[in-house]
This record gives sequence, C-alpha cells and structure tokens, in this order.
Amino acid sequence: MRAAMYHGAGRIELTELPRPVPGPGELLVRVHACGLCGSDLMQWYQDPRAPLVLGHEPVGVVVEAGEDAPVAVGSRVFVHHHVPCGDCTYCRRGRETLCATFRATRIDPGGLAEFIRVPAENAPLDVLMLPDGVSDLAGTLIEPLACVVRGQARAGIGPGDPVVVIGAGSMGLLEILAARALGASVIVIEPRPERRSLARRAGADVPEDPTTTAARSRLGPEGARAVFVTTAAPAAITAGVDLAGPGGLVQLFAPPPPGQPVPIDLGAAWFREVRIESTYSAGPLDTRRALQLLHDGAVDPELVISHRIPLAEVDHAFRLARSAAAMKVVVDLSQ
Ligand SMILES: [Zn+2]
Ligand SMILES: [Zn+2]
Repeated sequence: MRAAMYHGAGRIELTELPRPVPGPGELLVRVHACGLCGSDLMQWYQDPRAPLVLGHEPVGVVVEAGEDAPVAVGSRVFVHHHVPCGDCTYCRRGRETLCATFRATRIDPGGLAEFIRVPAENAPLDVLMLPDGVSDLAGTLIEPLACVVRGQARAGIGPGDPVVVIGAGSMGLLEILAARALGASVIVIEPRPERRSLARRAGADVPEDPTTTAARSRLGPEGARAVFVTTAAPAAITAGVDLAGPGGLVQLFAPPPPGQPVPIDLGAAWFREVRIESTYSAGPLDTRRALQLLHDGAVDPELVISHRIPLAEVDHAFRLARSAAAMKVVVDLSQ
C-alpha cells in the first residue's frame, strides 16, 4: 500500500509499506481522507520521532475485522488514534488524555496511509460510525473539533459568556463555531484580513484592528470569561492573559517550543485570579460530541476546510498547510 513517510526536517515522501494485518479484536480500515493538523507541522515535536507516518484525523471504511471485533465490515467510520484505559488515576479524575494507555495506543501506521490497523483497545471505544449526513470530509474534522469541545467543556462557558479567540486559522474557526453553539459571544483577534472575514462568517465579532486594545473595547468591564489561544506565538499568549477578566481562564491550544520562555505579567494576572491552562487532545466523549455538532450542522466543514489534496501530492499538501494561503488541508486517499 502507499503511505506518506515523514523523514524529519519537513521532508515527506510517498513510500510503499506492507498492508497491516488485523489481529483478534482489531480492524483494518481503508482510509478515504485524513486531515493535516498543526502538530503534524511542528518539526521540533515530530523530528525526534521520524521516520513515521503522520496523520491522526482519518475517516474510511472497515474492510476487514479480526475475530470478535466490535465493528462490522462495510462501516464508514472515524477512527481516533488514542484511547484511555478508563481506570488509572488520570482517567478517574477526568484527565484521560494524560493516561499512559492513551499515549501508548495508536493507529498503525498512521492516517496518511491507504490502510490502517485499528488496535483492539481503540476498536470498541473510539471508532465512530458516520451517519449519512456527515461526509468523509466533515468526518476528518471530528478529532480537531473534539479537542476544542473538550477545552470548552472544561472552561465551562455558556450562553452570553464573553469569550475571546486569538488566531482564526482552522482551530480558531472551530473554536468560534463550537462556542457559538454553546451560546457564547465571541470576539476574535486575527491579523490576516481574509481570516477575519471567515471568522465573521463563523459568527464572531472581529475588529478590523487586531490588537488587545480593540478587543478590550468590545468586552465589558468584566473582561473575557475565557480566552482560547490557538497559536503558540508568545505575543498571543501574553495578549490572552491581558484579556482574561477577573476569575477568567486562558486556555492554550498550541504548545510553544520547549525552552522558549513566554513573558507574562503575573503580578497583574495574580490579582484577577486568572487561570492559565493547556489542553491536550480529546477523549471518547469529546469525539462523540464533536460528531453530534457536525451532524447538527453547527459546524460547516466548507468554512474550515480550504484544500483537498490527493495522496500522490502529499508533499504539496504539507507545503500548503504551512503557508498562510490554507486553512484546513485534507489529504484525499479515495482514489
Ligand atoms: Zn490534530
Ligand atoms: Zn487511564
């Protein structure tokens, strides 16, 4: 089978790999489409693990099922790459993305391959059947949307809450759409005009002036209940802390490179009791909520997905994803 192999230093090449063979309880899925994620582009994160097949946002059809596997051949599915044990300290605290099993379970070899083997742990817990109303393309948004849904559930935002989203790339748009579905009012800071207009279409209030001053003038005296920071730029994180109101939350979606300090005026944040937290990945409940949002039409995939590139041009897909021209890039493996 064909697969896209990441060799490090941004280099990705098509290669031939043996088709995986599903064991007892496992599935073999013929991949139709797989989204590219910001984390697939972070060289400091991926290079130490190279060579590897990237891609953790796959949708496809079950073509083989091992003995006692819980999903039938022919099912059109989204496959989550990680699943928790449900039983460790972290799982019992509701922090299942920190679970050791979560980090150890993964699809084989990765979503950018024509076929993937779904381990026996993943098959019963987080392989979701796609209803007719949810296309393959829409299904590739389940994983990134699940990360957003998880963060927003933890943030506890609801109807009328003022929230700020910093950065209107694909994650920023998903933040806006999910927060609007919860009834929150969303202000966006985004330097690129074309992204500002997409953010407006997603239902946000987007000042032309992409500064904290402009955002603050839109917020009431209570400031933001939550600020979702979708970029790792230090200035964006600093702005997030500035905009969080008393008792507010700053939630970080993109990791700054390790060893890169971020200047934060903690003295000012201290008196407002501002919380700063990261949120990593998503669990089985979050993927189900994300699928529901897509099924309900609360998230329009056409707004978020800008490019659909065939596997044969995967290198081009990565170059596009790194450029400002693209929002979400999906690799099409259906031919
Ligand atoms: Zn992702
Ligand atoms: Zn666990």
